[in-house]
Amino acid sequence: MKKIILSFFLLTSVAINAQRTCGVEEKLQKIMADPIQREIYLKGQEKFEKELEKLNNRVYRSGESIDNVNATTRIPMAFHFPSVSPSASATLKNCLRALAQNQVNSLNADYNATNADISNWASAASFYPTVSGVGSIDIQFVIATQNHPAGTGIANGTVAVTFGTNFLNGADEDPTWAGYMNVVVRNEGGILGYSPLGGYPGAGWTVVLNTWAFGSGSGCSGYVPGVPPGSVQTGINKGRTLTHELGHFFNLNHTFNGCGTNCNFTGDRVCDTPPSSVEQYGCPSPGSITSSCGTNKVLTMNYMDYTDDACMYMFTPGQMTRVQAWYNSIASEFNMTTLSNDEVVKNNFNIFPNPNNGTFTIRFNDLSDDYSVEVFDISGRIVFEDYYTQSSNLEQTISIDKPSSGVYFVNVKSGSSIITEKIIIK
Ligand SMILES: [Zn+2]
Repeated sequence: MKKIILSFFLLTSVAINAQRTCGVEEKLQKIMADPIQREIYLKGQEKFEKELEKLNNRVYRSGESIDNVNATTRIPMAFHFPSVSPSASATLKNCLRALAQNQVNSLNADYNATNADISNWASAASFYPTVSGVGSIDIQFVIATQNHPAGTGIANGTVAVTFGTNFLNGADEDPTWAGYMNVVVRNEGGILGYSPLGGYPGAGWTVVLNTWAFGSGSGCSGYVPGVPPGSVQTGINKGRTLTHELGHFFNLNHTFNGCGTNCNFTGDRVCDTPPSSVEQYGCPSPGSITSSCGTNKVLTMNYMDYTDDACMYMFTPGQMTRVQAWYNSIASEFNMTTLSNDEVVKNNFNIFPNPNNGTFTIRFNDLSDDYSVEVFDISGRIVFEDYYTQSSNLEQTISIDKPSSGVYFVNVKSGSSIITEKIIIK
């Protein structure tokens, strides 16, 4: 009987542990216990502090938004599924490739503050007077497709998603994959994932995610977002564990990192996040939790707390300044030859609304070259064409004369790249 009670208790514990927990502190302790990694870490932080000071001077003295400091930053990504055999079915592998892309899409939305739920901030803001607004940086995460490491067997033009890759016997870094922003998806028990605090892509460092904390939607066999094996569904199902862990990789602390009087050196070391020393779970209403550090309210909707995916939706400008400073200090470590021109162009614009009534907008993140737009119908007949210079507006509204409903293709040509997007006219 005692045994039965004990196993019941263990099962119950698993279910309770299914709330958000992150292993960043343990990872940092491991780094600090290794003399070589410790030295790399401390040197990196020193370099970071200089970058942060430069950015702070620029942003706060001029009133410039951190979003406009750099041109669009592109990050080549690779996803690794060590427990999926290379001989697994094409269906599973394609499903996981799609799930990786879906994860990247939500990452891009969250870091650019174009996520649908960012609108919730409008009614929450009044509880948080130190937060000047929503933070975002101009960044595009892209799954790499070119010039993959020798011996990995991934052809040019194929996404950097690996199956059965050993990743140095389960280690958290692998120099084979240096230059990529690596994400390893594997079974990690009760924790959702972890990352080094300040990561080095040049050394092949990774973010590790638990299988059920990866992606959103219905998932794939063995990789169902928000459904830990043997437990009930939790609120971890919108891909935000990667938003959180990448925050750590880019040197963000938890918002509940402690109280203190000088925000530059205490707590999460970000001055516009209200201090707190207690993590929050579930889905608290905005302003409903008073901080253990004083009278301020806990910023429970911040990605660097532990609340449910559906209830976290923002970074602050101070956090994004820190992310940009870390990026600036490691930018040269990314291997940009792993991205094709096509991806650079493709990730650089979007078309909306789609479907539309024949009038739609193309919005670019930036323009590095002149470009042309052609729209043709399903029979190949051109119904619109025009040419724009690099100095054009970042948004172009296109109107097709007397459109009939159906499928159309939009060609955007820039430099040597041509990207075709499908639109539907209703
Ligand atoms: Zn964390």
